[in-house]
Amino acid sequence: MIRKLLRRIFRRPEDNARTRASHSGPVHIALAQHGISCDALLPAARKVCETLQAEGYQAYVVGGAVRDLIAGISPKDFDVATSATPEQVTAAFRRARMIGRRFKIVHVMMGRDTIEVTTFRGDSDAETDEHGRILHDNVFGTMEQDAERRDFTVNALYYDPSNETVVDFHHGVADLKQKTLRMIGDAPRRYREDPVRMLRAVRLAAKLGLAIDPDARDPIRSMASLLENVPPARLFDEMLKLLTSGHAVRCVRQLREDGLHHGLLPLLDVILEQPMGERFVMLSLERTDERVREGKSISPGFLFATLLWHEVLADWEKRKTEGESSVPAMFEAMGAVLDQQGEKLAITRRIATDIKDIWSLQPRFEARAGKRPYRMIELPRFRAAYDFLLLRAASGEVPQELADWWTDFAAADGSAREAMLRPEEAPKKRRRVRRKPSASQSVVPE
Ligand code: ATP
Ligand code: MG
Repeated sequence: MIRKLLRRIFRRPEDNARTRASHSGPVHIALAQHGISCDALLPAARKVCETLQAEGYQAYVVGGAVRDLIAGISPKDFDVATSATPEQVTAAFRRARMIGRRFKIVHVMMGRDTIEVTTFRGDSDAETDEHGRILHDNVFGTMEQDAERRDFTVNALYYDPSNETVVDFHHGVADLKQKTLRMIGDAPRRYREDPVRMLRAVRLAAKLGLAIDPDARDPIRSMASLLENVPPARLFDEMLKLLTSGHAVRCVRQLREDGLHHGLLPLLDVILEQPMGERFVMLSLERTDERVREGKSISPGFLFATLLWHEVLADWEKRKTEGESSVPAMFEAMGAVLDQQGEKLAITRRIATDIKDIWSLQPRFEARAGKRPYRMIELPRFRAAYDFLLLRAASGEVPQELADWWTDFAAADGSAREAMLRPEEAPKKRRRVRRKPSASQSVVPE
């Protein structure tokens, strides 16, 4: 309450700059200049706008979709912004569902598509924490206010399918053409309001091939630590978006070039500060980028398993040298690494299970005798664990020969498989080791 009052009285010059920018009024850009005909839209998005407009509301396709179409990229999703309240939107469609507690948005279902419809939002008096981070952003606003609370100028574009015009409040189309990612308003203030915008800046610049405007880029280094105050679940989502954007390598390189990875995210520190793991991680990100670009699916569990693997290896080695026996030490190390990341990054339980499955199978690739290889290839997680092994071999962590052996073994028929088994690891000997009573005895070399 008091903070709101103070903010109103002591408006900073940067606030005035924001106000001034938006008061100059929007530019209406015609089809001939932007080149996006309404046929380029997902038909469902167009229909949602038409229906709302027919009811007398303003309705536009907004944000990433308009930006991507102008940049010649096919949009991931189509969002609509409207002057209708969530209740009015819901009433206008047969299949619509309101979601969210504080700021409600509406999912309108049309055939197999879902369009996210958001009421214009204003943020002038949003409640903030002690660092200036906006906690609740739940005030309806005008279209102009809605444009002002968006992050980058290229994201504040509104497309009206009825006249194929782009309404541009902050010169986003010009910035897009000039390949610049520019923050709306004062960048440090916008980062304080929502530190995730720093990650979005890097991701969107990499995705769209834009240079981050120095005003938006320079503060990131000193403000990166504000990401610590962001809820871990949100950071996880954003990090996943960054890593599965199809431009993960470029994003991570840029973060490093600018020295932004320090403290930006614990996970990135981990990735980029470990010389041993760097090759492995970069290979994994390259393959992920390739898969995204080929339209193939990405398993977040696999991805995070690769990113954190060398942390596990280091911790595992440490525990073994301290005298813990191999298998329990491995499980302890996995738990410790996931816990440490979990403080900052809410890795969901399902993904954590996938990660552990992949990790825990790695030592079992060493066993190439007896029945164990047969059991191994029957496991449901064999394929993921095997792909992981291929990456370990490609990065030089384990001999290529080991990976090739498993490739051949999986492809071979019954008798060929038998011929491949290694005789020296007699199963009998291992059974004897397992029967030994104490852990300290079992680590004595035979
Ligand atoms: P993409 O969908 O390609 O990942 P996007 O920019 O569309 O990128 P979304 O998360 O889909 O990202 O957000 C949709 C729109 O909402 C953005 O274009 C932007 O206008 C606005 N937006 C998203 N996140 C923020 C934020 N943190 N601060 C301000 N505006 C935001
Ligand atoms: Mg989007």
